[in-house]
Amino acid sequence: MIALKSYVEGGWVEGAGPAQPLVNPATEEVLATVADGGSSRGGAVAFAREKGGPALRAMTFADRGAMLKAMADALSAHRNELLDLAMASGGNTRGDAKFDVDGAIFTLSAYADIGKGLGANRVFADGEGIPLGRSPRFHGQHLQVTRPGVAFHINAFNFPAWGLAEKAACALLAGMPVVSKPATSSALVAYRIMSVLVEAKSLPEGALQLLVGGVGDLLDHVSYQDVIAFTGSSDTGIKIRSLPRVIAHSVRVNVEADSLNAAILGPDVAPGDETYELFVKDVLRDMTQKAGQKCTAIRRVLVPVEVADRVRDDLVERLSAIVVGNPEHERVRMGPVATAGQRDDVREGISALARDGRLVFGTGEVDAVGAPPGKGFFVSPALIELEAGADAPSVHSREVFGPVATVVPYGGAADEAAAIVARGHGGLVSSVYSEDAAFTTALVLGLAPYHGRVFLGSAKIAEQSPGPGTVLPQLVHGGPGRAGGGEELGGVRGLAFYMQRVALEGSRPLIEKLSAPKA
Ligand code: NAP
Repeated sequence: MIALKSYVEGGWVEGAGPAQPLVNPATEEVLATVADGGSSRGGAVAFAREKGGPALRAMTFADRGAMLKAMADALSAHRNELLDLAMASGGNTRGDAKFDVDGAIFTLSAYADIGKGLGANRVFADGEGIPLGRSPRFHGQHLQVTRPGVAFHINAFNFPAWGLAEKAACALLAGMPVVSKPATSSALVAYRIMSVLVEAKSLPEGALQLLVGGVGDLLDHVSYQDVIAFTGSSDTGIKIRSLPRVIAHSVRVNVEADSLNAAILGPDVAPGDETYELFVKDVLRDMTQKAGQKCTAIRRVLVPVEVADRVRDDLVERLSAIVVGNPEHERVRMGPVATAGQRDDVREGISALARDGRLVFGTGEVDAVGAPPGKGFFVSPALIELEAGADAPSVHSREVFGPVATVVPYGGAADEAAAIVARGHGGLVSSVYSEDAAFTTALVLGLAPYHGRVFLGSAKIAEQSPGPGTVLPQLVHGGPGRAGGGEELGGVRGLAFYMQRVALEGSRPLIEKLSAPKA
């Protein structure tokens, strides 16, 4: 059995507190232990400042891109081992594990390419130059420069590989060293990723450190040039944002939190149409992939009242075919949730949502295939349906982080659908399935202020689309309000959080030289 260690100050350090078991959520077999303490959180931050930061800032974007490529290559070389580990420690099916591990490799590779494109430079121009005076000589230009701070990354349990990689890719390419804290329950995958990167010597010392166990006093060491990027629950996000030290130092905080993502079927789409099939497939995928433990998963399924029964029946029929159990078993299509606490939360959440309407599939209880009797944190998929116009306070305010969605009938008008979705108080992504350009335009404009991303589901993209639940490195991820108010990724935009945008004002030739210097 492995006792997880932190990788800090250039070495591996075991925790000093009582050991906590990390179990396979399908069998409850203990896979590893983790303990708090042992390493100094302050020591890790100081090491990042003294070693990692200067080493990264000495590199150009092209150098850092090559470093990200080396990280992606190292993880690719250990892909099968990481997939097996993600299955055992996260209750993932192999498909779920690929979503996390391949997502990590893909995101690192995408940022490697961005680094190559930014070339042998250490700063880049943000937008075009701006004439400021009577003659073109007096000129303005915004420039992005690396902040000499440390990136504090705190991740959620559901994507131990992708969560670590997507945050680290942006910070490292921007030139900022990272201290990364995975969620404790799924830290085994993050630990193995770190050890692969250390063995491959992919990074300079101090550029990336991993802290396992509780957060401890880590955030007591944050300062004004640092940033905190957090993914997890709204409650923890609020605690972090409210820390007196964070407020006193104006520390940048990015929060990626809960979201009640919606999928809206347009009134022009008839059952049996290709767009209808895409809609049902995307809802089903989002309900069951990672056992619904995806921040981007569709939670509210808005359908015109005339087809609500048909959509419900089609979803129920397809949910009935989902085999829940130990992902090691070949028939299993959905694994357990991550912990006993999550299982209890999901079951309790299903009851709360059902009080708003009617439970039409699943109760949360399930006979899991291939799991030892009485073991594992399994829940069944569950579908709730509402009456048209139902108030449904829980459906529009409570994220049940599991394989659960609610069918919400609406009258078929874009503004009505947008108003219902807005009751979720801000989300990561919502999706519109329609071939009617006028309906889609009206709805997209209604949804856009409340979301970081809007997915336009259509037969025209059905073959190529991974669905709304997949976060692509080229597009921004984050959302207002309940979703945390944050923004990550989005190609080169993802670097801005780790950099200082400075406005230069002066003589044009000098500013142009400064804006695109060659290293
Ligand atoms: P969580 O309980 O808030 O934990 C998230 C992380 O914060 C963990 O690493 C946790 O460490 C750490 N943490 C706990 N207390 C802290 C504190 N006082 N100060 C600093 N860090 C602290 O959330 P979770 O249960 O892991 O994640 C599930 C939630 O994440 C869901 O609501 C989901 O919607 C959201 N999520 C959002 C996104 C997104 O991109 N928007 C992505 C994935 C998940 P320990 O594990 O050691 O307690």
